[in-house]
Amino acid sequence: MWENNHHNSGLVSGAPEDFSQYCRDVPDFPKKGIIFRDITNLLKNGPVFKRAINQLADHYILEGIDTVVSIEARGFIIGSALAHHLGSGMVPVRKKGKLPWRVYRKSYDLEYGQDQLEVHQDGIEPGQNVLIVDDVIATGGTVEAVAKLVKEMKGNIIGAAFLIELEALKGKEKIKDIPVYSLIKYC
Ligand code: AMP
Repeated sequence: MWENNHHNSGLVSGAPEDFSQYCRDVPDFPKKGIIFRDITNLLKNGPVFKRAINQLADHYILEGIDTVVSIEARGFIIGSALAHHLGSGMVPVRKKGKLPWRVYRKSYDLEYGQDQLEVHQDGIEPGQNVLIVDDVIATGGTVEAVAKLVKEMKGNIIGAAFLIELEALKGKEKIKDIPVYSLIKYC
């Protein structure tokens, strides 16, 4: 037994934490046939939220991340906390029409529907080390579109981080060249 004093997070254990116990499955939301992975119970528990962010941060702390690119909307929650921890900037990728200045835009497919994502044209400088963050990777269509935007802006993508990976949907195959790290995996 050892205590994780490094972040003073209060977890006493040698085993990786099972964060899935704080995630709720909501069947048929937002559409019939979709099992929505609800992270609000993880977020509302301060020590658990902190440990989750600490674990993600530990994975990237030595990578020299300049910018965390976070995906609307739940990605903002994880991405902002992680960026704060890493001392990096946070760049929002938003749904069409939400960002006020000049944007680059990409179409993408969702597990449930299709949409467009935008980022400010001056959000990423060429050569910056970028970490892409969202709450869930499902089919991978969203993160694929974001990765294309970042590459077109000549950002150096270090990785893509998620709370949850839905492995059966094989989202990782859409971003084969990008290392993926997720805290919770569902088969
Ligand atoms: P995808 O593009 O299929 O990888 O979908 C990822 C995006 O859709 C993320 O922004 C998630 O927030 C959301 N998402 C997709 N499937 C789910 C799900 N089963 N539960 C919760 N969020 C989901």
